[in-house]
Amino acid sequence: MSVFIRRENPFGTTILPFKTTPYWWETVEPLKVENKEIPTQIDVAIIGSGYTGLWASIILKEKGLNVHVFEAKELGYGASTRNAGFVGSGYKLGVSKLFKIYGKDKAVELYNISLKARKDIEETIRKENIDCGFVVPGHLVAAWKPRHLANLERTAELLEKYFSLKTRLLDKASLSACMETDLYHGGLFLADGALLNPAHYYQGVLTLAINKGVNFHLQTEVQQIEQKRGKFEVTLSGKKRTLASEVLIATNGYTSSSFPEIQRRIIPLPSTIVLTEPIDQHLLERLIHTKSAVYDTKNFLYYFRFLDDGKLLFGGRTHLSFGSSITEAAKELLRSIYMVFPALKEIKIRNVWEGKVCFTLDQLPHYGRLTNGIHYCLGYCGHGVALASYLGKLTAYYLLNDPRGQSSLLTLPFKKGFFYKTPPWSLPLIGLWYRLKDALF
Ligand SMILES: Cc1cc2nc3c(=O)[nH]c(=O)nc-3n(C[C@H](O)[C@H](O)[C@H](O)COP(=O)(O)OP(=O)(O)OC[C@H]3O[C@@H](n4cnc5c(N)ncnc54)[C@H](O)[C@@H]3O)c2cc1C
Repeated sequence: MSVFIRRENPFGTTILPFKTTPYWWETVEPLKVENKEIPTQIDVAIIGSGYTGLWASIILKEKGLNVHVFEAKELGYGASTRNAGFVGSGYKLGVSKLFKIYGKDKAVELYNISLKARKDIEETIRKENIDCGFVVPGHLVAAWKPRHLANLERTAELLEKYFSLKTRLLDKASLSACMETDLYHGGLFLADGALLNPAHYYQGVLTLAINKGVNFHLQTEVQQIEQKRGKFEVTLSGKKRTLASEVLIATNGYTSSSFPEIQRRIIPLPSTIVLTEPIDQHLLERLIHTKSAVYDTKNFLYYFRFLDDGKLLFGGRTHLSFGSSITEAAKELLRSIYMVFPALKEIKIRNVWEGKVCFTLDQLPHYGRLTNGIHYCLGYCGHGVALASYLGKLTAYYLLNDPRGQSSLLTLPFKKGFFYKTPPWSLPLIGLWYRLKDALF
């Protein structure tokens, strides 16, 4: 199936007006946080107020440190309130590749970290009573090519043999029984796949951080960090400064040129989501017979879930460079929806939004300490709801020299790319290559 040969777009060139902010933002009342004075000296400066920064701040505050979170925009402005709310184990680097590259023992260690992250988020949500619609309907991985099914079979074998995870391989007919589409060649059901409302989860974690006494500074961009007398001088927007004993960079896909050592190691990529108006109940019952969320095996993957009231959330990578028109991205996603579900030709878009995903060269997340002593935790490659929450905590322990901060992720080199400025000049070419791979191989 070629991505270039599309079913005719029934929407023509015009689409109805839609909101360009995440739907999730409409489902929460933003918490008011006092923008406190910035002291001249602090224990820890955390840069970025997403899941990573918040969880690290909670652990560090529990240890009695004076913790300050600096956020360039608003609270949770980044991917943490924009994502699709899929919660699973594993990494962007598939489990069969993990075994192939790292060998059995290391792969088992690495995958176990993601399992701990998946377990930890569920336990935390329940323990802290975070009302975020957490459910476990499973995830369905749909095979874009016939040969992808063989890889899904190997994935199932590994997940069951080494991690006792429940999976079910579906042939084309069984997948078509789950949803009315002829696009895919079968799939793999992952029973531990969960869903949540990311902004509700964010609010829950933020409330914990506020109650612990973490200090927040919004609209306060960290512009530079310089080592001074064994500490770090942090230069902030508005010509403000503070001297921090420790610094943690938790900026993921939103990392700017203020942190060149990190920027050289990551590739921020846009991901766009559309949310439709509710689909007629009769049509919905025809279209989908599973509560599972779905993603496919393409490089420019589609991911989608139906909300309880019948709205369809459909996401994908429509382009690789930032600054492309959101209307064009919306049109492309509408064409994609139509390709998956031809019956949805009358569908209307309610919201379209974009967020930044942070890729690394090995498609695994990284945390640790740079040679200059600055800590970092990022690179979830689109799998960050559970991982950012868990690794944010681990990084805080690591910063405290607490053994709980150790994991085999620390043994992996955090490789630099040949590019420096982002987005690198080569991204459109890389994009074309991956589209060709999706279409041809
Ligand atoms: C569209 C989309 C869909 C996704 N869907 C899923 C999904 O379904 N499941 C899943 O597991 N993962 C998903 N992800 C990934 C997941 O959302 C992220 O991995 C996770 O939220 C990262 O959290 P974070 O705290 O590290 O970063 P973010 O939440 O991105 O926060 C980083 C923050 O740093 C701030 N910042 C940057 N530079 C500075 C500076 N110099 N000074 C101060 N502040 C700064 C930014 O403003 C931003 O608020 C998705 C991501 C996107 C974009």
